[in-house]
Amino acid sequence: MQKFDAIIIGSGPNGLAAAITLQQQGLRTLLFEGADTIGGGMRTKELTLPGFRHDVCSAIHPMALASPFFRSLPLAAFGLSFIKPDYAAAHPLHNGETGLLYHSLAETVRGLGADGEAYRRLVEQVIVHWDELAPDIMGPLSLPKHPLRLARFGLDALQPASWTAKRFTTAKAKALWAGMAAHGIQPLSNWTTSAIAIVLSAIGNKYGWQIPVGGSQSIADALLRYYQSLGGEVQTDYWLQDIRELPPHQVLLCDITPRQLLQLKGTGLTAGYRRRLQRYRQGMGVFKVDWALAEMTPFKDLRCQQAATVHLGNTYAEIAEGERLGHLGKRVERPFVLFSQQSAFDPGRAPQGRHTGWAYCHVPQGSTVDYTALIEDQVERFAPGFKDTILARHTFSPAQLEQYNPNYVGGDINGGIMDITQLYSRPILALNPYRTSVENMYICSSSTPPGGGVHGMCGYQAARKALKEHFGIVVNGWSAGQ
Ligand SMILES: Cc1cc2nc3c(=O)[nH]c(=O)nc-3n(C[C@H](O)[C@H](O)[C@H](O)COP(=O)(O)OP(=O)(O)OC[C@H]3O[C@@H](n4cnc5c(N)ncnc54)[C@H](O)[C@@H]3O)c2cc1C
Repeated sequence: MQKFDAIIIGSGPNGLAAAITLQQQGLRTLLFEGADTIGGGMRTKELTLPGFRHDVCSAIHPMALASPFFRSLPLAAFGLSFIKPDYAAAHPLHNGETGLLYHSLAETVRGLGADGEAYRRLVEQVIVHWDELAPDIMGPLSLPKHPLRLARFGLDALQPASWTAKRFTTAKAKALWAGMAAHGIQPLSNWTTSAIAIVLSAIGNKYGWQIPVGGSQSIADALLRYYQSLGGEVQTDYWLQDIRELPPHQVLLCDITPRQLLQLKGTGLTAGYRRRLQRYRQGMGVFKVDWALAEMTPFKDLRCQQAATVHLGNTYAEIAEGERLGHLGKRVERPFVLFSQQSAFDPGRAPQGRHTGWAYCHVPQGSTVDYTALIEDQVERFAPGFKDTILARHTFSPAQLEQYNPNYVGGDINGGIMDITQLYSRPILALNPYRTSVENMYICSSSTPPGGGVHGMCGYQAARKALKEHFGIVVNGWSAGQ
């Protein structure tokens, strides 16, 4: 059997990033995937009707654009391009106002009126110093390279979003902030939920909440082409159940969650490490709907049609209550809905004159409740007539999402809750959280720092550790392999 220097199980953004980082150093690597195509959370498929191309999972990519690792790769040369809608996010309220995250700090500040300066104070430092902050924010706990900047960020970021929201006086700014923080999929009263709001807003202002031409599949395709151009090898269509089924290899990197790692046979993990992984906690799940639509969604405020993402949850109080109930495992009557309309910007996603809709809401972990009607009610609230435009729909319950991709345990799309106890100590509290108890086995999924989202930084960081510890190769900075 052929021998590999490294095998990577799972081809999500982190598996691909790990594989590329190792392959860039001239190792012989194999990327191993259970599904029939690579990509993990970056796939685009005809889920509803012919000609309607839906992002199965991720759709909007501020994290990919802000990722120091992805930025170091020549992905444009491998076919990846992005579209920047007029607005990063729109947040309509029942009172007729709409909060807008623009692709510029100045415009966002202006749009927030009386609360503009409070917003500026929360995000400006991160926008200006992102290049210095990103390696510290998007890596494991370590001695920070820029301690003062990180401390300045941490002062606000560590706080619950429920606290930082109090710096705003208007319903519009409070709601916009709640929507940003709710991407963390946890109660807004949790510590560090401000970090999520600050980072997503700041990188929205700096890089944009952009949409890949052709869908998130295009990111996977460009990463794959680049990886293969370096000589990387790929095996799809094989769900690994036992490590001993793999060809001989020196190191193994696993783009899977702790639960899957525990289920894999033949790993040789120690009992102590297993116990620590068993304590790892999942977050809320999501319920997702994709629609084939006869026309653009008829938002009352037409600016919402020009936003990459529309946050449908009305006020701060409604969103906070929905996230609180979901976390407690209770039914959410008015869920916070994240809505996107990719075909408005990328016409190839739908037949001429038709449109796609993509939305999900946060629900209790593993919930079996059908949230389709509640999600559609929420869209209809801000876009009367929406339901009449639906030609077909496809839904994913938390269980169906997990069936589609076992990394989404109980519908948890972040690979485990990203609260203060697990934000950096994922999957365990350790200086090197990527290494398992087996010397040559690493975990590199979003269940490691810095967590969920399409940015590849978990995979990059895990691969760096493996390179150093097993091949004596030190990769510094973000220009690796260029
Ligand atoms: C509905 C939804 C919407 C989202 N929206 C966004 C968004 O807009 N923007 C954003 O940045 N992020 C978004 N995300 C989150 C993002 O997709 C994930 O955080 C990201 O994909 C995690 O990357 P990963 O590499 O850790 O794992 P994944 O992308 O989940 O990849 C893991 C891979 O491992 C494979 N695998 C698992 N077990 C095995 C096995 N035993 N054998 C072989 N292969 C195996 C799986 O098939 C999968 O391909 C969304 C996710 C979902 C589900």
